[in-house]
Amino acid sequence: MNTVPCLDCLVIGGGPAGLTAAVYLARYRRTVQVVDAGESRLNKIPRTRNVLGFPDGIDGPSLLDRLRQHAARYGIEPWCARATALERDAQGFFVATVDGREVSARTVILCTGAQDVEPGIDGWREGLQRGQVRYCPVCDGFETQHQRVAVLGREGHGLREAIFVAGFDNEVTWLSMGSRREVGADELRRLADCGVRIANGVPREIRCLTEQGVTVTMEDGASLTFDVLYPALGLRHIADLATALGARAAADGQLEVDEHLQTAVPGLYAAGDVAHGLNQINVAAGHAAIAATAVHNSLMR
Ligand SMILES: Cc1cc2nc3c(=O)[nH]c(=O)nc-3n(C[C@H](O)[C@H](O)[C@H](O)COP(=O)(O)OP(=O)(O)OC[C@H]3O[C@@H](n4cnc5c(N)ncnc54)[C@H](O)[C@@H]3O)c2cc1C
Repeated sequence: MNTVPCLDCLVIGGGPAGLTAAVYLARYRRTVQVVDAGESRLNKIPRTRNVLGFPDGIDGPSLLDRLRQHAARYGIEPWCARATALERDAQGFFVATVDGREVSARTVILCTGAQDVEPGIDGWREGLQRGQVRYCPVCDGFETQHQRVAVLGREGHGLREAIFVAGFDNEVTWLSMGSRREVGADELRRLADCGVRIANGVPREIRCLTEQGVTVTMEDGASLTFDVLYPALGLRHIADLATALGARAAADGQLEVDEHLQTAVPGLYAAGDVAHGLNQINVAAGHAAIAATAVHNSLMR
């Protein structure tokens, strides 16, 4: 990697948010560089069916490849590297440390995404490919209709997801991981109204089996079988570079942004899963379009 002159914008993260932001900026004729550690959540998607323009769906790695090809049309070649620090110098420019080198930029769009908290599931990769393990009912609840579905997650996130999944006419069991006693009477009634069963013990082992589906062995030895399991254990939003500079974040790391996707730090924007909002590909692209346009306009002043 050569030392580069001060960029108009450094984009950190090369998933759908980062690549969309870079394409917009390149088309505004801004100097832009993408730095990407190569762990986009797109890599886990066996087939997405809610991205418009792909009526038969598309697998995540192929979509990522297309986004990269699109960016390459405008000369964008992401650096395969991780930004490990982000600071501001005496002139107010951002200085990122990337592979031990310093990269300066007038603005930064942080598109670092999030990581799923993984449950210990035997054979989960194969289960994910077969649609037995799913991470996002907003994305693919439609594909689960009329099935035996388990939602694994504590009171709060797990409970809300169980109710959401029940909306697809599924036979839902909430694996509450022992958190049932923390649930109020009103919510218990809501679960009952939606037909959600509660398994209160703590799962000892979860296995994906080709034919039978997903088997969950509880601590007391009881064995439960499902067609689909949604782990609802949350996401870790990768926001450290921004919060270290003073950006505000929720407890899970999702960054607070204004209507232009700017964080509390002037010139530092966030887009995609790392920014406040629904964690979706379409949203990531929409965020990125807004942030890139705001960056371009801010540099014209
Ligand atoms: C199994 C699964 C199925 C899904 N299905 C769908 C679906 O059907 N429809 C849908 O809309 N959404 C779906 N999603 C969600 C979707 O994948 C995300 O919303 C989307 O990828 C977010 O894009 P992003 O650019 O914000 O983050 P990502 O795509 O995660 O990209 C972030 C990038 O930033 C990089 N990065 C992080 N830190 C650094 C750093 N310090 N320096 C350099 N690079 C860094 C990462 O390595 C990564 O490459 C699914 C997710 C999963 C896990």
